[in-house]
Amino acid sequence: MKKIDALKNESPLIFKAYEVAIAAHAGQIRLSGGPYFNHPLATAQNLSDWGLDEITVAAGLLHDVAEDTNYTLEEIKKNFGEEVAFLVEGVTKLGRIKYRGREEQSETLRKMILAMAEDLRVVLIKLADRRHNMQTLSALPLQKQKRIAQETMEIYAPLAYRLGMQKLSGELEDMAFPYLYPKEYKWLLQNIKDRYEERERYLRMIQPIMENALRGAGIGTVLMDFRAKRYSSLYKKLLRYEMDLDKIYDLVALRIVVKTVEDCYGALGIIHKLWTPIPGRIKDYIAMAKPNGYRSLHTTVICEGQKIVEFQVRTKEMHDEAENGIAAHWAYEQIKGSKAYANRRSSIADKKELVWVEQLRSWQKEFTDPKEFIESIKIDFFKDRIFAITPKGEVVDLPQGATPIDFAYQIHTDIGDHCVGAKVNGKIVTLDYKLHSQDVVEIITQKNKKPSASWLEFVATGGAKNKIKSALKNKGWMLEEKKKIIELKITADDRMGVFKDVAGVISRSHVKIISINSVPRGHGKFHAMRIKCDTDDKGKILKIILKLKSIKEIEEIDYRFV
Ligand code: MN
Repeated sequence: MKKIDALKNESPLIFKAYEVAIAAHAGQIRLSGGPYFNHPLATAQNLSDWGLDEITVAAGLLHDVAEDTNYTLEEIKKNFGEEVAFLVEGVTKLGRIKYRGREEQSETLRKMILAMAEDLRVVLIKLADRRHNMQTLSALPLQKQKRIAQETMEIYAPLAYRLGMQKLSGELEDMAFPYLYPKEYKWLLQNIKDRYEERERYLRMIQPIMENALRGAGIGTVLMDFRAKRYSSLYKKLLRYEMDLDKIYDLVALRIVVKTVEDCYGALGIIHKLWTPIPGRIKDYIAMAKPNGYRSLHTTVICEGQKIVEFQVRTKEMHDEAENGIAAHWAYEQIKGSKAYANRRSSIADKKELVWVEQLRSWQKEFTDPKEFIESIKIDFFKDRIFAITPKGEVVDLPQGATPIDFAYQIHTDIGDHCVGAKVNGKIVTLDYKLHSQDVVEIITQKNKKPSASWLEFVATGGAKNKIKSALKNKGWMLEEKKKIIELKITADDRMGVFKDVAGVISRSHVKIISINSVPRGHGKFHAMRIKCDTDDKGKILKIILKLKSIKEIEEIDYRFV
């Protein structure tokens, strides 16, 4: 990784940006001490470390210039060109929005997503900027620390994750965690250190066994190391396992980087020959990458001394991508020597792994209430993902707990709206069936079928919920479908105004009358009324009946649910 100080001697553009930024920020001091220029420098360094192009690195150096100094955007455009100016402007816009409450926060997301669609590099600069701000967060006032840590945890870390930048995402979460959960952080520090060390000692003993076996099979290893689970993700997992550290098998995993894809499977075979794999824990993210682009083989085995160990096997290319995601893609493209930067602007956003970017944008359009949008994004981002498959072999990314209805809506609104049934792995299932990763899901539709309000009780995605609600609202199906209705059967002596009295009692109890039917009985002396009431509240109806009994013409009252 080249230092910017060295890089600027190779690239005239970076050199110029360096000089302009240092002059523009001259005299400004960071709250954490030291000249302000340290901040854009660290930001640009991150971008360079991720392998981004010189335009992005230059924009990183200049990213705070337009906002915080006298050097204008116009000057940037004149001296550095449209593209650098465009990126700086994008970052400046993002920076103006501060997280203060939910409303503001959703707005941040909206703008960010829009910016992303136009040029993902704007988001990458923002992430590089955020990484350094988190590193120096302790210098800020307490209130600000909390706000920025929360914004990082809720927006930027998940965003980095979805861009495949797992390393950055983990770093951001780990940096935010102590500010948001100081007590929990202390607990982890106290309880985990020995465990980590014990696990590492143990894996150090496993490593030579593994190396020997691989060598014996003619598989060369590029790298073998330990990957300790990060505090923030460990904490999230512990919450699901009653805080029992013994139940966390991947506290420290053994990571093997080999040369080719064939070697990955070869290594997996060797691991399974040495130790017994635990069923259901073998994950082939090479054959089927996660939607954020992550590829690797995972397996958990019962290792020496009956200890449970997770192995991760991947190639060098997969390894780089797993660490730096979208940025690694970018770096590869550059190495391959693709076309001009201008053309690349949209090519990354078009990448198949990034279908979710499109998905976010289309969801966002459908949410009229920003609060609902942020809620749905947050839930969908944080839950563990499952990957179901269409009969054509397309992977559909869903949160855990997702049902065939969620699947259907993810594919297309029409498919969701007209869904009547589903087959999972060839078998008919109920619509509230909880999908598993690698399930092949076939949705059965019928043209005139409409969504049911009862679906709202089991769907897992905000997207599906929202689409069902809007379909119900549009067609006004909500009431008929969802509510049970109580029908009163009243036999009353015929007199003028008895209807009015009965209706009066009901409506004074704040129950809406849907319909009244009345037929004369026995020489017109008695009336049998059937009144449909818009309620399923039995208690309310019993009270109404009690009041109705005080009307002296009423002979008999009965009710039933319809
Ligand atoms: Mn900044």
